[in-house]
Amino acid sequence: MKIEFIGADHEVTGSCHYIRVGAVNLLVDYGMEQGVNVFENAELPVQPSKIQYVFLTHAHIDHSGMLPKLYHDGFRGKIITTESTKALCDIMLRDSAHIQQQEAEWKNKKGARTGVWQKVEPAYTMEDTLACLRLFEGYRYGKKYQLCNGVEFRFTDIGHLLGSASIELWLTENADGTAAGCPVGAPEGTITKKIVFSGDIGNKNQPLLKDPEYTDAADYVVMESTYGDRLHEPPKGNYEEDLAAIIKKTLLRGGNLIIPSFAVGRTQEMLYFIRKIKEENLIPELPDFPVYVDSPLAVEATEVFSKEGAQCYDDEAMEFVRKGINPLQFDRLYLTVTSDESKAINTDDEPKVIIAASGMCDAGRIKHHLKYNLWRPECTVLFVGYQSVGTPGRRIVDGTDEIRIFGEPVAVRAEIEVLQGLSGHADKAGLIDWIEGFTAQKPSKVFIVHGEDEAAMSFAKCLREEHGFDADAPYSGTVFNLAEGEYEKVTEGVRIHRKGEDGYVNDMPESGKKRQASSSYTQVRIAEKELSKVIEEGTGLPNRELEELAGELRALAKKYRITEPQHRC
Ligand SMILES: [Zn+2]
Repeated sequence: MKIEFIGADHEVTGSCHYIRVGAVNLLVDYGMEQGVNVFENAELPVQPSKIQYVFLTHAHIDHSGMLPKLYHDGFRGKIITTESTKALCDIMLRDSAHIQQQEAEWKNKKGARTGVWQKVEPAYTMEDTLACLRLFEGYRYGKKYQLCNGVEFRFTDIGHLLGSASIELWLTENADGTAAGCPVGAPEGTITKKIVFSGDIGNKNQPLLKDPEYTDAADYVVMESTYGDRLHEPPKGNYEEDLAAIIKKTLLRGGNLIIPSFAVGRTQEMLYFIRKIKEENLIPELPDFPVYVDSPLAVEATEVFSKEGAQCYDDEAMEFVRKGINPLQFDRLYLTVTSDESKAINTDDEPKVIIAASGMCDAGRIKHHLKYNLWRPECTVLFVGYQSVGTPGRRIVDGTDEIRIFGEPVAVRAEIEVLQGLSGHADKAGLIDWIEGFTAQKPSKVFIVHGEDEAAMSFAKCLREEHGFDADAPYSGTVFNLAEGEYEKVTEGVRIHRKGEDGYVNDMPESGKKRQASSSYTQVRIAEKELSKVIEEGTGLPNRELEELAGELRALAKKYRITEPQHRC
């Protein structure tokens, strides 16, 4: 019974963990790496055709985005997730297949023009995706299910996205590591361990979704650390009122309000706020202002939210549902799907709110809306999410006076506003609060994943030093024996340096080659723990042996003590 860390180790994207229990091979998440890739990922230790199950924590592409590729490579098992995640994946993975195919087409066209190119194949096709979607099975929150001999599971609402879950897994096998030939529940001669995967942990007091729920017992926990080294800024004012003020001033001066937004999650939060603004009549001068959601994916996602929301909505949103009101619907909300509808938005003069993807302005229909509105001083562009370095969104927020859209320069004359306060992730305090919830059985080991290098390391340190957990941040390729409670293999991160991305050149021996050295320092820390166990257990030893041990330890300390500071020239 073991776990191998594959992806999102000292990184925030490409989540994937492999588990072997008895004769069962399973994965938890199989996500796509997005943005700058920092560390090499280990390859899956088994052929995809040998994997029976994939557990999926939630629908975000960095957790689910490579499942069609897994199908393409031979996986024919089951994908086990919540009902709402299944519904969201149905639209998000089809959208992702579309993007993969478009990108490959674009690269091939570009290559054909230059005359020197190798045909690029998409990571996966729509056919792979549709076939993969048939493998999904949706389950309810809060109920314990038996999957097969040796594996039971339960999903708990973790409040990060519609359908998002932490997963409790009870794994059972015979003491010799063979498959338990009987149901789980630790009959004689078998060993059962419970491991909990946090998934992405939601932020408290967010609109629409419930707060993350706690789990109180585990042998092991694998937890995220996206904000493991940061606290969210406390909200400065009232989000709804601030949003209403921005809508009011923009529309009254005859401009459009453009909101770049992620299609799934943030767009629905925006609709919820605007619904409340209209309901509470916060802009009496404009009781009937029009709102356009211009993104086919956002439109489909809004439908999924409306259908599935009751499983995940918080009390406030459920108040509407109970009264028979859809909290994401209001008068003069226009959901545009076709590109003709999209183009028509900028042809009439009526001031309006336009919500479009992508959230960082680097793709999608938002680029058209920026082209039409960014140069008009009466308009406003409002940012409601994090803007990564290098994206057009970040450049606009940082105050550039011109950006290029579709190859043409566009002046930034619109007013630029930023509304902080929405985050799908718990901050450091929220993460600590969640892990402190393990009160019935404190985990003997906490593995920290899904955080950038610094965040993961500092969060593991914080849990070790300030909260009494045995916590590590393993690198990809590390293997831990869950039955024995010890590492089988410890790796160190293999950094990828790509020319041009961060000023470094590629120092990998061959592209894609894995290089996994043992982490010497981690080995020392493991040995240190073994030694302290020996010392703890040694209180009953005869004095002579204790003195001998003390002498040997002193000699060891003397041998390795660094007496002078080391200088480097
Ligand atoms: Zn997520």
